[in-house]
Amino acid sequence: MTEGEATRGFLDTAAATFLARRLHHQRVRAAAMGEREGQATSRRPHTAEDVPPLSIVVMTVGSRGDVQPFIPIGRRLAERHRVRIATHGVFRSMVEGAGLEFYPLAGDPTVLMDYMLRSGGHILNPRRLDRVLVDAPRQRALVAEILASTWRACTEPDPERPGDPPFKAELIIANPPSFGHIHCAEALGVPLHMIFTMPCSPTTVYPHPFAGLDSGQSQPLENYLSYGAVDLVIWVGIHDLVNAFRRDALGLPPLSLVEGPGMLEDHAVPFTYLWPDALVPRPADWPPHVELANFTFYDMGHGYRPPAALAEFLAGGEAPIYVGFGSVLVEDPAAVARTIFSALEKSGARGVVSEGWAHLRGGTPPPNVFLIGDIPHDWLFPRCRAVCHHGGAGTTSAGLRAGLPTVVVPSFGDQFFWGRVVADAGAGPDPIPITGLNTAALTAAFDACRRPQVRERAQALGARLREIDGAELVVQSVYRWLPVEAMRCAIHPDRVATIECVACGQLRLCPECVPEHAAHLTRPCRYVSWDVHPDLGLVAELGDLVGDAATALQAGFDELVSKTASRATHSG
Ligand SMILES: [Zn+2]
Ligand SMILES: [Zn+2]
Repeated sequence: MTEGEATRGFLDTAAATFLARRLHHQRVRAAAMGEREGQATSRRPHTAEDVPPLSIVVMTVGSRGDVQPFIPIGRRLAERHRVRIATHGVFRSMVEGAGLEFYPLAGDPTVLMDYMLRSGGHILNPRRLDRVLVDAPRQRALVAEILASTWRACTEPDPERPGDPPFKAELIIANPPSFGHIHCAEALGVPLHMIFTMPCSPTTVYPHPFAGLDSGQSQPLENYLSYGAVDLVIWVGIHDLVNAFRRDALGLPPLSLVEGPGMLEDHAVPFTYLWPDALVPRPADWPPHVELANFTFYDMGHGYRPPAALAEFLAGGEAPIYVGFGSVLVEDPAAVARTIFSALEKSGARGVVSEGWAHLRGGTPPPNVFLIGDIPHDWLFPRCRAVCHHGGAGTTSAGLRAGLPTVVVPSFGDQFFWGRVVADAGAGPDPIPITGLNTAALTAAFDACRRPQVRERAQALGARLREIDGAELVVQSVYRWLPVEAMRCAIHPDRVATIECVACGQLRLCPECVPEHAAHLTRPCRYVSWDVHPDLGLVAELGDLVGDAATALQAGFDELVSKTASRATHSG
């Protein structure tokens, strides 16, 4: 046996052991929390008919690609429930235009994207640590504002529509970057359901997209641990802000360095990921409450009228390749534009090139290129023969749904994940990291999009994606894991219970039933007990490990910040 094989054997054994311990820990916790109180312990499949009408807040933080998928989900839920989408103010018109209620969360998505670009999106191995630390105070202020706004989103009227009926969330649906989700759920005693466009549930199959690990490697232990490591780094960076939020806004006790990371996992919070098993198979080591659905789409192309010049360009030759880098801010836009133009020319292709936020304007475009602004993808992509983009989940799914060969040029985070997924599915060439973008590589990638095999694979994949109703699968998944028994009125199971009558043996009652118990001792209903923390030897053991790592990280973080601060003082 070589040394490498011996090491691999050891790592595999260690990973398997770690997994077994983790699973044991979850089973013990589930038993301790009990059938009624546990979030994900109930195995009974709930359907729409089991779920009383609820007030639901859907929190999502990020760029348009992070917000848009929640619109069809929100609309599907709104058929039976009161649904409010809470996200950045710039998306108000899109949300309200879809007929949904809105609540403004703090934070400007362009500022968030700018930060991601600077850090390289690799939290564990940032390419630009200097820039990350310079920006850290501003980012922390932003996180504090977002946290505060998540609580208002659960409890307050929309500031622009003060006449609306009062709102109090009975279910929170959130994407992980909205930070406040689990703490608001704890304060209200309501269930939480996470939805995301990239993986963040521990698995040995691939690493956390922000860990900066190569997903092509066989490294089960590293993959699995990368999730906890990313959670830990984020938690160390913001735990004081979260604890201030818990104390000041929610009246909750602070969380230790050990409790914070992995909270979603420890409470077995149900997760639904927005891609299909047909594209990225569900890892076998995920617990049952982590599910896959499909991409969801909010089509905005109905009735879209293109400018005459664009219509003329599209009609004037072979279908073009769409090129656009969406929300990504490119450091040297003119150079990127020149590379795109010359690769299109060398490949004999026509191109519609999106300026986007990347501002790709590189002088006058050649005649085979048409520059476009913001055009609905669902209108444009079916008129193209291939797409080339940054690999955001939204654009990737839109291109694949249209059945188009796809070239991914990732610059950070989950874009590398999607680039790998596209190439592995045979729907495009290997991704070209933006730092390695040059005319030769891009020309070869454009050429690859003409290969019959790539086109056939992309078309077949598109047909499969169009078959599956993603929003419906998400809603079914949400219903499946709801603690429905704890949420229904004991007398009227089709209504949500809001009050618990202590005198009548914790009888759960809807507002209509409350007057009958007016003389009894009652209290507001809590559907989930978030404060159940079984005292387990195993948890303590794991906690010691996490605690040591967190303390070391905190010390390192403090040292780096103080060094940066003193350097800034000297230079300023
Ligand atoms: Zn009573
Ligand atoms: Zn009732």
